[in-house]
Amino acid sequence: MRGPPAGPRVLLRRLREIMAEPISAQERLNKIVTQIAANMVAEVCSAYVLRSDGVLELYATEGLKAESVHRAQLRVGQGLVGTIAEEARPLNLPDAQSHPAFQYLPETGEEQYSAFLGVPILRAGRTLGVLVVQNRTHRTYYDEEVEALQTTAMVLAEMLAVGELERLAPPGTQIDLKRPLTVAGVSLGEGVGLGHVVLHEPRVVITALIGEDAEAESARLDAAIASLRLFVDDMLSRDDIGESGEHRDVLEAYRMFANDRGWARRMHEAIRNGLSAEAAVEKVQSDTRARLQRQIDPFLRDRLHDFDDLANRLLRVLMNKPHGLSGDELPRDAILVARNMGAAELLDYDRERIRGLVLEEGGPTSHVTIVARALGIASVGRAGNIVSLVENGDAIIVDGIGGEVHIRPPADVESAYAEKVRFRAKRQEQYRLLRDRPAVTRDGHRVSLLMNAGLLVDLPHLVEAGAEGIGLFRTELQFMIAARMPKLREQQALYGSVLDAAGDRPVTFRTLDIGGDKVLPYFRTAEEENPAMGWRAIRLGLDRPGLLRMQIRALLQAAAGRELRIMLPMVTDLDEIRQTRGLIDRDLAHLRRHGYEAPARVLVGAMVEVPALLFDLDGLVREVDFLSVGSNDLLQFMTATDRGNMRVASRFDALSRPFLRALRQIVRKAESVGMPVTLCGEMAGNPIAAMALIALGYRSLSMSAAAIGPVKAMTHALPAAKLATALDTILDDGSQEGTVRAMLTAFAEAEGVPL
Ligand code: PEP
Ligand code: MG
Repeated sequence: MRGPPAGPRVLLRRLREIMAEPISAQERLNKIVTQIAANMVAEVCSAYVLRSDGVLELYATEGLKAESVHRAQLRVGQGLVGTIAEEARPLNLPDAQSHPAFQYLPETGEEQYSAFLGVPILRAGRTLGVLVVQNRTHRTYYDEEVEALQTTAMVLAEMLAVGELERLAPPGTQIDLKRPLTVAGVSLGEGVGLGHVVLHEPRVVITALIGEDAEAESARLDAAIASLRLFVDDMLSRDDIGESGEHRDVLEAYRMFANDRGWARRMHEAIRNGLSAEAAVEKVQSDTRARLQRQIDPFLRDRLHDFDDLANRLLRVLMNKPHGLSGDELPRDAILVARNMGAAELLDYDRERIRGLVLEEGGPTSHVTIVARALGIASVGRAGNIVSLVENGDAIIVDGIGGEVHIRPPADVESAYAEKVRFRAKRQEQYRLLRDRPAVTRDGHRVSLLMNAGLLVDLPHLVEAGAEGIGLFRTELQFMIAARMPKLREQQALYGSVLDAAGDRPVTFRTLDIGGDKVLPYFRTAEEENPAMGWRAIRLGLDRPGLLRMQIRALLQAAAGRELRIMLPMVTDLDEIRQTRGLIDRDLAHLRRHGYEAPARVLVGAMVEVPALLFDLDGLVREVDFLSVGSNDLLQFMTATDRGNMRVASRFDALSRPFLRALRQIVRKAESVGMPVTLCGEMAGNPIAAMALIALGYRSLSMSAAAIGPVKAMTHALPAAKLATALDTILDDGSQEGTVRAMLTAFAEAEGVPL
């Protein structure tokens, strides 16, 4: 038997020449298959391209009948070619016709061929087509030949990626790579964004696929791997990482991959076959991706991300490219696409140019999501595999309402969404007109609409949205986006800026609500089985008074000469309020003793979000100056449904009899003693829920800035007293048919209340 033929290096060199020739795409492809057949001493070489309808179409052949080009077709999973595409693995067969999947296509005349070698054409782990060589004789192809054909397939993948083969698609067909796709995820932030993909960690475009000098390329690869290992070690030794925890586990996995000998060996092998160091990294990564993507083990599939990150970093080291786009490089309609992103990384981008955010991970309560929502960026999370489905610059639509992403959308989908965006913009314009008008119901009840905030970037919204103040300032956000614990003066600076921006408008600062799902990377606490009901918020604050006292001091100093409203989260027992008041009083005395100006007035309030307080309302109103209902947590605890668990989070409706009765009880108690009460959970910003709250008697609601316009428009049209009567009836008479929500919807429709 003869040895492996001419060798892949010669072939790759020839291919490079063919790629540079000024000929048509079809001619180029024809020359490529002819060249491969000659180089591998095969009678046949054929290239199949995957179409958007799941059909593999013969695009070029040497050896099969010429008239079968663009005619011979196989579905994915059908025949040998379809099997290779489906499994994304090579098939190396001495006698093709005895394979159970073999399917004879009469138009090709392939019955005379026995030996068969086919490899998938892969890009970023996606199958774009199949490349096949065949011989008349029985033979098994050498491993080197398999490797060489895979390397060649990569060159074809590049041709596909740059769009050269698109023009060859017969009328009415489309190649799969450019197929419009819809990816379902979960809605993270309201709104719709149309624009173009900006990969947060862009794949590096490799221009030099073929390496001239294998030794030099190997040396470059070794140097790059060494620098990558140093980088990972360096990351692990940073003191803000902590000794244990998820973050560290991920980095340890990185270290393991970075030192994986198999990985390095496979890359060196690809270089020996003629690839440049960069192309070798990409090839091995693409193979690994294709293999791991088909894994059912979720642990292994997750590790794929780490591996991707690492390969990407290695490419950047090799090509000397820093990551990310900045300044003018960033398109004006950027849709950021990432596996995941830190909140601070999002803030690094120019907000004016960001139209949307799509994450493969990212749940509704992750930090980056909270920030994206605060910035009003349309966002979708859990968009499976999105990073490998898009290329930088692809057209994309983020539907943050439906929780969907449309990649390379067809024109009609795009115009439908553009219409939606125009409609929303028009509505926003109408809301702007309402901005300086107070929220008064149709029958004359004045309602105060406040906004929720937590970052400096929120402050301009105060004026833009016409909020009457900040009903909930989530102080933990500053802590969540920081790499280390914010210092006293940093906290004080933020609180001072908030008070300055608010001017005469009231601001309610909530003390740190950390713990539970709001973890600080630099503040490790022990693992808890039920973190939402664990060591969090005021519990943690009182057990670690150093942290709480530092915050109280920052607040007292920032509010010098002004009114300060402090609110305590997760209060369960009245003694927690007494203890905190004790801390505040001690610090006030300390300030005065040291000659600092104290706030003009300090008001202390409590969040009502733990059901136990409902049974101690008489005592509660004696302890505080104001109340605020945290309906997110109150609903979570009353219905025993984890608000962060997507399977159950929306199972029970807040607009239900038991919950609305509880909310009514709180507002009635507050009213009876003249105590101010606000509701600051998500439902306050939802027009139909806000309508019910006003009918229950709430006259102060705090919501995201974007919700103020729609809630105000609803308020103006609402006959509050009439709804109050109807709502009381349905709440008091348990025998009434139908849901409260249905009653509210019908009421709004009958009264012309816009929801
Ligand atoms: C709530 O629980 O309703 C609330 C406003 O607080 P958070 O969402 O920050 O827990
Ligand atoms: Mg809460």
